[in-house]
Amino acid sequence: MKERTLVLIKPDAISKRLTGIIIDRIEHLGLDMKAAKVVVMTEELARKHYPHLEGKPFLQDVINFMRGDYNGIKDHRIYAFVYEGEDAISKIRTLLGPTKPENAAPDTIRGAFGYTKGDTMFNCVHASGTPEDAAREIALWFKPEEIIA
Ligand code: GDP
Repeated sequence: MKERTLVLIKPDAISKRLTGIIIDRIEHLGLDMKAAKVVVMTEELARKHYPHLEGKPFLQDVINFMRGDYNGIKDHRIYAFVYEGEDAISKIRTLLGPTKPENAAPDTIRGAFGYTKGDTMFNCVHASGTPEDAAREIALWFKPEEIIA
């Protein structure tokens, strides 16, 4: 089924100059980039993005990581994309690997570039997990007119 999904390249990947590698790997999935922008990641936006993590002990660490506080990114920028194509959601999630970097195969993005420090998992790329999440997340990050038909 043709789907749309939200992809976020987080400051960790930006600071390590991994953006090109990540976009290249997504291109090889045969998906189409339908929207792209640089966004300032605020605490409010991070909380709206991860409503299911509200109340979790690691939420503040995840927010700080999303804002680039661990990477010295003072402008808090994040790169956001909408990709579209057949089974786009599962294709990109497979490319990313599971949430826990230690469980991710080395040829996945999280296996190659994610890590755990203390109790916190640091994943340098986000992609929507379900069609419902994708619809909610795309509406949170993009105005309809920013996404080409
Ligand atoms: P994702 O869609 O695979 O990123 O998973 P979630 O939306 O559930 O979690 C968002 C982020 O929160 C993950 O990428 C991790 O950085 C962090 N996270 C999720 N679950 C846990 C957990 O059980 N422990 C810790 N320490 N961090 C977690």
